[in-house]
Amino acid sequence: MSNLDRQAALTLCGGRAGVPGEPVHELLAPKHVRLGESIHVRRLLPNLGRRMVGAWAFVDHYGPDDIADEPGMQVAPHPHMGLQTVSWLHDGEVLHRDSLGSLRTIRPRELGLMTSGRAISHSEESPRPHPRLLHGAQLWVALPDAHRHVDPHFEHHPDLPLVTAPGLTATVILGELDGARSPGTTYSPLVGADLTLARGTRTSLPLDPDFEYAVLSMSGEVHVDGVPVLPGSMLYLGCGRTELPLRAESDAGLMLLGGEPFEERIVMWWNFIGRSQADIEEARNDWTEGTRFGEVHGYAGDRLPAPALPPVALKPRGRVR
Ligand code: MN
Repeated sequence: MSNLDRQAALTLCGGRAGVPGEPVHELLAPKHVRLGESIHVRRLLPNLGRRMVGAWAFVDHYGPDDIADEPGMQVAPHPHMGLQTVSWLHDGEVLHRDSLGSLRTIRPRELGLMTSGRAISHSEESPRPHPRLLHGAQLWVALPDAHRHVDPHFEHHPDLPLVTAPGLTATVILGELDGARSPGTTYSPLVGADLTLARGTRTSLPLDPDFEYAVLSMSGEVHVDGVPVLPGSMLYLGCGRTELPLRAESDAGLMLLGGEPFEERIVMWWNFIGRSQADIEEARNDWTEGTRFGEVHGYAGDRLPAPALPPVALKPRGRVR
């Protein structure tokens, strides 16, 4: 997915400052963003209060939306640099095309993982015909400096490992949870997992005390470490936890995101992650001039133009506001 915010701001993040060494509860409210004509998303990261969770640098939650009589998701070709995109669905389908020639339909609880490395472009659309409901999340993982220029590649993993307990099914999307490891390629210690809880479930998940964590609620009524988290909002949990207590008041769907605090300072703008304003300007110019990012074939429509880059003096800032 693309960041379609026309007033895209430069976001500086990373570094250990602002990462609590101990467990905390920080409820993060979403920013509401319109994505095209029929899709409205709730942006949880970057958030005014917190910009990253481990290497997770961007989280949009959308739906459930009834798109039976609508085009649904129509995100025209756009570039990425310095990150991985994770497409995760609870309902519906997304057709992915990219400049490597990939053409894949992503379905619920299948991992669509695109590693941009130095440059890739892609489009995402609801296929025609498509299921009535569309519900999912789009997430970005920042690549560490040592790997941010890797060759771009796309992975589709329809079969992911499960961790189960009475009333709980956890699908390991990326990284490792309770000894189960996702086949998706990672470049820093992190975890992403989908949690399905049945009504009345009380359980707890083992965590790594060196990781920071957050939980995104996608549906249902759930208490995370005793805190009610409404669908479309995220609870940041800090570090230093060995387990996470969960209590489901109804059937519920969550995403658990975590990772080693990302020490490098990064600059994020539009669909790019770099290390300096010059990195970002160069990427923007290359996209505008039609170089570096390749071409997406088969999408019915024009590619997305880059927004104007605001003149901003870069000042180092922490991971929090
Ligand atoms: Mn995208």
